[in-house]
Amino acid sequence: MIDAFFSDTYSADTPTASMAKLAPVARAAERAGYVTLHDPGLIDREKLRELHDPDYVRAFITGKGRLAAAQGWDWTPRIRNGVLAINAGMIAGARMAMEQGTAANVGQGFHHAKPERGWYFCTFNGLALVAQEFPDKRIFVLDCDEHCGDGTAEFTKRLPNLFNFSINGTDWGMHEGERSICRHLKPVKDDFTPYRKALEEAFETIRSWKPDLIIYQAGVDPHIDDPVSSHSMTTDQLLERDRMVFRFCKSERIPVLFVLAGGYQTPIEEKLVPLHLNTFRAAHQEYCL
Ligand SMILES: [Zn+2]
Repeated sequence: MIDAFFSDTYSADTPTASMAKLAPVARAAERAGYVTLHDPGLIDREKLRELHDPDYVRAFITGKGRLAAAQGWDWTPRIRNGVLAINAGMIAGARMAMEQGTAANVGQGFHHAKPERGWYFCTFNGLALVAQEFPDKRIFVLDCDEHCGDGTAEFTKRLPNLFNFSINGTDWGMHEGERSICRHLKPVKDDFTPYRKALEEAFETIRSWKPDLIIYQAGVDPHIDDPVSSHSMTTDQLLERDRMVFRFCKSERIPVLFVLAGGYQTPIEEKLVPLHLNTFRAAHQEYCL
């Protein structure tokens, strides 16, 4: 089974499915026999103060000030604790993936979070956090969410061991540079070829950059029925995407930590859980069978 990080602290009532979906997904993956769940505890707040503007971290920890709700939801202690647990799962998951070849965090990478603030349902950037935690390791983020990884892109300017490759249907404008690539694609439902080519370009980039760890943001908000999707990918295309990624990571022997990222369909159990579960199924098939 795949080692995955999750605790009941991860879940919170959020206006979007973002943190409300985590417990149903984790329990479904456990029931299906894909994962063994581990509790990562809470992140050391000092690590967050190193990563983000300390004023922003203070506002979110205390719930006081305008920036406490910068990610777009009214602040609650439950959301605060959930974010601290999910961030802890990023570091624990990264460490386990580098030891064992693969691991999961049943939470989000929070790729929109920028150094000075949260943004669009993302509080503290757990992808950049991994790069900060392991400065002598090369961390490659393969971001396959509907939206571009604009927050992570900002962190590539500060963290020389971080690479951000974003394949997206919605590009809000992200920093591009030597270690930050944006591939913005039109709707792909009738033709998966451009998406496949973008993935193959990412794989080539990985081969030449030689990371110690890939963090795969397996968003399901590119799905055709998702309210925010412009990628318009079918369920089968998302599954094919996941299979290509895991097949590549395994054949190249590069450790991979995978995380959920976006996905906003409701009802959660009926619409969203099966899509996220497919990512666990693809990883399980590649690594455990
Ligand atoms: Zn998204």
